[in-house]
Amino acid sequence: MKIAAVHTHILEHRLETPFESASMRFDKRSHVLVEIVCDDGTVGWGECLGPAQLNAAVVAAYAERLIGRDPLQSDLLWQELYNLLRDQGQRGLTMTALSGIDVALWDIKGKHFGVPVSVLLGGRVRETVGAYATGSFRRDGVDRVTDNATECAAHIAEGFHAVKIKIGFDVAEDLSVIAAVRDAIGPKARLMIDANHGYTVGEAIALGQRAARYDIDWFEEPVIPEQLDAYRMVRAGQPIPVAGGETWHGRYAFRDPLATGCVDIAQPDLCGTGGFSEMRRVADLATLHGVRVVPHVWGTGVQIAASLQFVAALLPDPPRRDAIAPIFEFDRTPNPFRQAILSRPIEHRNGVVAIPDGPGLGIEINRDALAEFAPGS
Ligand code: CA
Repeated sequence: MKIAAVHTHILEHRLETPFESASMRFDKRSHVLVEIVCDDGTVGWGECLGPAQLNAAVVAAYAERLIGRDPLQSDLLWQELYNLLRDQGQRGLTMTALSGIDVALWDIKGKHFGVPVSVLLGGRVRETVGAYATGSFRRDGVDRVTDNATECAAHIAEGFHAVKIKIGFDVAEDLSVIAAVRDAIGPKARLMIDANHGYTVGEAIALGQRAARYDIDWFEEPVIPEQLDAYRMVRAGQPIPVAGGETWHGRYAFRDPLATGCVDIAQPDLCGTGGFSEMRRVADLATLHGVRVVPHVWGTGVQIAASLQFVAALLPDPPRRDAIAPIFEFDRTPNPFRQAILSRPIEHRNGVVAIPDGPGLGIEINRDALAEFAPGS
């Protein structure tokens, strides 16, 4: 089996109501898929985290090195592609593009051997995973406090037992949002807060100290990810467990945050940190330091399926008699192509997601939807 072609598919949808986190504004949803075609007809799918057009350009730069190669040599191909752009990369687009390729290679590997990727990763530990609803961005033209509270109450009514909301804008207003959301979801539901690195150290510590009374599971990306000292100060200065890592791409980027105690929970993104190949290494590193792994998930059904395959094989953690149940990030923000690109959408039932058990990622792509959501269509 040899790689015959590498394609990218950009998907776009302009939003009726733009929304924003503390670090990014969304006027449209845009993601890019990677399709690798083999000479025996086997097709693998992957996805890259981040800007679609830029990722597609880097995938194209990698592609010529892949044609004619054996897709089952995924570790060797990973290293060769990483070496190719090391001097310009190590993190960011070079890694997110490589991630999309690696995920597609593992999809091919699973289809070739007729098993889900989770079986190749070491075996399925679970068939379902509890999900948390990600949303509650700041939307244009509405009162953020009541808007977030109403949205989170709807997630709970739909069966979710956990929600994550966006903060990082203004400490006083953020605290009002947290209080209103806790009130709306009741005392039993789990609540996480995500600052999208919008705070200074002082703001993050002030917020964490005052928000702890609302029973927060974790405080995500309190400060910018380059400032590891700042992470450690936030972790020491307030009582809520600190989470982060969606922009720490690869084992080298995770080494110092894990070894120096920056986070309680590591959030590598499978489609950003280097695909299945590198995700395994990051998870092993996290285990060394007693840090839980809760993957970051922000993309289409391809990224959801891939992340589910990884979580299916994630060993019970901590490694004691009663582990903490894993929890899966489930994006509830508007994105009409997220599930439309799958022949069978991956949905939750009462906040629980069944992990696909077909070969590879366990999904089939609806090519009509790829055409429908192509830019300019
Ligand atoms: Ca986040």
